[in-house]
Amino acid sequence: MSLDLIQQEIEAAARDSGRDAAAIQLIAVSKVQPNERVKAVLDQGHRCFGENKVQEAAGKWPDFRAAYGAVDLHLLGPLQTNKARQAIELFDVIHSLDRPKLANSLARLAQETGRCPDVFVQVNTGEEPQKAGIAPRDVDAFVATCRDLDLPVVGLMTIPPIDEEASLHFALLAKMAARNGLNGLSMGMSADFQKAIAFGATHVRVGSAIFGERVTAQ
Ligand SMILES: *Cc1c(COP(=O)(O)O)cnc(C)c1O
Repeated sequence: MSLDLIQQEIEAAARDSGRDAAAIQLIAVSKVQPNERVKAVLDQGHRCFGENKVQEAAGKWPDFRAAYGAVDLHLLGPLQTNKARQAIELFDVIHSLDRPKLANSLARLAQETGRCPDVFVQVNTGEEPQKAGIAPRDVDAFVATCRDLDLPVVGLMTIPPIDEEASLHFALLAKMAARNGLNGLSMGMSADFQKAIAFGATHVRVGSAIFGERVTAQ
C-alpha cells in the first residue's frame, strides 16, 4: 500500500540476489486507479508509470505530464494496430509486442515519424490460448524479425498463468532473453515481484501493492 515500502522490498530482494537495485525499474501500474491516488504517487516524486489501455492513458497522462513534467510511460496491455500511432506518441516503452502484424505497423510508423518507443516482446510462457504473446518456440524467430525491421527490442515480457508457480515462467523468460542477447526482463507484479527480481527482472510492474486494490477488475 505504499511506494516507499515497495521500493524497500525491491532493494531487499536485489540485495538478497546480489543485484544492484538501481538496475531494476519500478513501473507503478496506475490503470483504473482514481486520479487522487496517482497524484499521491507523483507527489512522492515517482516518474515511471504503466497503463493497460491507450485510450485510458490518453485521457489522463497529457494532463499529468503538463502538471508534473516528464513521466516515463509504459504500455502493458494489448495494442490494436489502429491505436499504434497514438501509442507511439504517448508511450516511452511498449511491453506488449505480441504479433507480426503489430511489429510491421510499429516499424512503418517509426519510419514515418522518426520515433519509436523501446519494445518488449510479450511471451505467452504458459501457452494459454486466451492470453496474448508469442509462443516460446517462436520467440527466437520473432525477435529476429523485429530486429530486421529495425525495431528497438530491449527485452521480453511475461504474465505467468495465475495457477502455476511463477518462478518457472520467470526462469524460462530469462533463458530465452539471454539466448537472444536481450537484457530487459519485464516480469513480476504485486504478488511476485521479489521472486521475479531473484530471476533477473529489470522491470517490475506493480499496481495494487502501491495504489491499493483496483475498483474494476482488469
Ligand atoms: C495490471 C497489470 C499489472 C499490475 O498488477 P498488480 O497485480 O496490481 O500489481 C502488471 N502487469 C500487467 C500486464 C497488468 O495488466
